[in-house]
Amino acid sequence: MRKPFICGNWKMNTRGECGVALAKAVAAGIPAGSEVEVGVCPPACYLGGVGAAVAGSAVGLGAQNMLAEADGAFTGEINPAMLNDLGCRYVILGHSERRQFFGETNEGVSKKTDAALAAGLVPIVCVGETLEQREGNQTEAVVAEQIAGSLAGISAEQLPTVVIAYEPVWAIGTGKVASPEQAEAVHAHIRKLLSDKFGSEAAEKVRIQYGGSVKPGNAAELLGQPNIDGALVGGASLKAEDFLGIIAAA
Ligand code: PEP
Repeated sequence: MRKPFICGNWKMNTRGECGVALAKAVAAGIPAGSEVEVGVCPPACYLGGVGAAVAGSAVGLGAQNMLAEADGAFTGEINPAMLNDLGCRYVILGHSERRQFFGETNEGVSKKTDAALAAGLVPIVCVGETLEQREGNQTEAVVAEQIAGSLAGISAEQLPTVVIAYEPVWAIGTGKVASPEQAEAVHAHIRKLLSDKFGSEAAEKVRIQYGGSVKPGNAAELLGQPNIDGALVGGASLKAEDFLGIIAAA
């Protein structure tokens, strides 16, 4: 019932030409009639070029961040209208690197989620605990606070458009992947939280991606879990062959 969604987060990697080549290779490698939704999120400065490279293909374009404001005096920022103008379908919000290095809060992510939805973008809202929090048995509480705070302003009608990415911080870029059981337990917890807040009908429709060192070799087992509906992929999305291997496992 939920269409699997595999999305590449290129972070601050690639350059113009190699990003275009990567995007084209991904688009060309998706089998005709694939039932998997695929997105790539290049650095903001390359959204135009990569967007042109994937136009008309099965690959959707996404941004890694945005500001929740209309045009104005916000030096260095980009807004939802600009992402629409560039042909974006998705925007990643509240990635742990933004929370960690740029002070993003649940409240700020909530504003961005509202603004993304108002602009017709699909927000990919990231949550996840640190190693310290996991070892302190705080995972469920941390994720509950992030979900409640980051989705504070949305309605049950809007919820199915939102994608949640559960990304344990200790698994991002570390090669340490959550076991399928560990990930599934948190995904089921997230769906229960959504069901309690928005009702089970809306909660059942939400895609919850797993993120954290997903590779072609571990993707099938993770994606085979009942509440894991896709993956947000960092490192392995930078090689077309690896990214396509994950798409094939979905
Ligand atoms: C990410 O940053 O969203 C991510 C999941 O990275 P990686 O796949 O490299 O762990």
